[in-house]
Amino acid sequence: MVLSVEEKKQRNIERTRKWRAENPEKHKEQNARYYQKHREKKLAQIKKSQAKIREENPNFFAQKSAAYYQKNKPKMLAKAKEYKATEHGYKVTLTSSWNFRGLKGDLDMIYRIYKSTKFCDDCACELDTHTFTKKCMDHCHKSGGFRGVVCVRCNNRRG
Ligand SMILES: [Zn+2]
Repeated sequence: MVLSVEEKKQRNIERTRKWRAENPEKHKEQNARYYQKHREKKLAQIKKSQAKIREENPNFFAQKSAAYYQKNKPKMLAKAKEYKATEHGYKVTLTSSWNFRGLKGDLDMIYRIYKSTKFCDDCACELDTHTFTKKCMDHCHKSGGFRGVVCVRCNNRRG
């Protein structure tokens, strides 16, 4: 029996499918190897297609993520809370809020100072979780420079 080109193609597809079904681990390895080998190319392709989408609608990804957030709000909030409860999550959440508020400088170092400070730099009160004696990172609103760790009262007074 002589197979046509199309039939041979079909036969090869069937063989591959069968081999993959019988060797799931090997298939997985193959995929991983393929991914590693073509990673740069793939990433460049993704980047290119994202740039094209952005060109047509600059807000596409922001809208997409906002819509996703709205749809999954309780889940997202629970996840954020869980993340913030970890040491690393707490640090990232806090330092990115400082960054957002305009703090400049070595955020890692400032975080270490913030974490280890037990008393207000100004009035020397003990820093805890109460409304007026809560710990605040104080920075200059003009230069963004770090000024110290103070209590809420002193932070309000300093402005
Ligand atoms: Zn104080």
